[in-house]
Amino acid sequence: MPHRISRETRSDKPTPSWFARWVGETTSASGETMTALDALWAKYDRAWRRLLSRRVIQELMLRASFDLDLLAPERISNTIQAGTIPDCEKCEDICCAGVENVVSLRLRDVALLMDIGRTDLIRREKPRFAESMLERRPALRELVASELFRLLPVLRQEGELRICAALSPELRCTLHPNWPLSCERFPYTLSAVRRQVVWGTRCPSKQQGPTARSEALFKASVATFNERVRDAVLLAHARPALDRLGIGAYLMRPGEDPFEPPEPAHRLPIIA
Ligand code: SF4
Ligand code: SF4
Repeated sequence: MPHRISRETRSDKPTPSWFARWVGETTSASGETMTALDALWAKYDRAWRRLLSRRVIQELMLRASFDLDLLAPERISNTIQAGTIPDCEKCEDICCAGVENVVSLRLRDVALLMDIGRTDLIRREKPRFAESMLERRPALRELVASELFRLLPVLRQEGELRICAALSPELRCTLHPNWPLSCERFPYTLSAVRRQVVWGTRCPSKQQGPTARSEALFKASVATFNERVRDAVLLAHARPALDRLGIGAYLMRPGEDPFEPPEPAHRLPIIA
């Protein structure tokens, strides 16, 4: 089964020169749920750094599991030459299809989809990946093993080719600019361990373009990582509040996932 889609396979009349992932030209919406999520985070932003939680043991285990520091862009090195951006017009791949390209959503993404009335795109059930695919894609294996991936939903995919349900028959992203964070920053990818932003190996086509766009992609890659930290803290500390906001309805609950690891320590959010 092919797991990549070309322009020709998606549309009878492929439209040239239109498919572009970029940031900076328009701003995304900020509605009621997004605002409430930001307010919730503001409450926890400083508190979680101190051991004030009543769940001190869980807090210690959470901190032991991964680095909880929010990263400032100026402390991250950029290995990508200024002005380098994806050349989607020349690309033969459409990276919005294929099970390996399923989009893992952040809490912010869920809030945004709620605010713009596109919750039909949210799926709590995650795809399972063949062992051979995980062997070829170590980053995917790491993602799948993470607790955040298990708890948070993904964007719905359709058909044998597993095309993102937000992609129109004309190969346009119907969510842009209200698209998920990982789509906004792609192919810029932050390696938290190395404190570096690198070009994602899944994207084969690049070009020189405006520096403003490459800088926006760099900043978006750091913001996407920081959003994971925020998600880990809120999922550990504020699940009832997330339920009250309606976001909890799209999150996996303890005992619901047949693949849930049995050891409580493994249930802590882990940043992949
Ligand atoms: S793989 Fe890269 S160049 Fe190709 S469509 Fe995706 S972002 Fe654009
Ligand atoms: S949300 Fe848009 S950019 Fe992201 S995978 Fe779907 S169609 Fe592609």
